[in-house]
Amino acid sequence: MYFRCKQCGGIFSLNETCKDRFNITQTKEFENNEYFIVHHLSVPSYMLQHNNYSTKGWLLARELLFQFIYNNLTPDQARKQNRHILDNGNRKWNLNNTQKLTEVERIKWSFTLWNVRYNVAEEYCEDIKHWARSIFEDTKEIVKRINWIKIV
Ligand SMILES: [Zn+2]
Repeated sequence: MYFRCKQCGGIFSLNETCKDRFNITQTKEFENNEYFIVHHLSVPSYMLQHNNYSTKGWLLARELLFQFIYNNLTPDQARKQNRHILDNGNRKWNLNNTQKLTEVERIKWSFTLWNVRYNVAEEYCEDIKHWARSIFEDTKEIVKRINWIKIV
């Protein structure tokens, strides 16, 4: 018997959900540097696809993903740039609060965590990069249609 994830559309078995698979692959990342080099991509990819951020957090995470993939931003640079937003008490909005971008729920994702191979580090990194790029592409349409007045 199999189930389809309501958020990403991935098919998982009774014994393993998306969250389980995410935990397995995150553990691999933390235990192995060859996997950890894509950590800055795997976490936002999972969170964006499962709509786990607030609306503003979602948009910020997507923008960061874009900078990582297309502008060669490094995780260190991102931390420095976003320190004022992410780290200090000036943050007025919560990354994980309840106001979500509901449009995300309707996206038909072209690639999910279930397509990511994770037995070999090289394949894992390749697939995570592909996953991140696919998320950026799959979300282009809804970002164009967002009512920014409601968000800012
Ligand atoms: Zn899922």
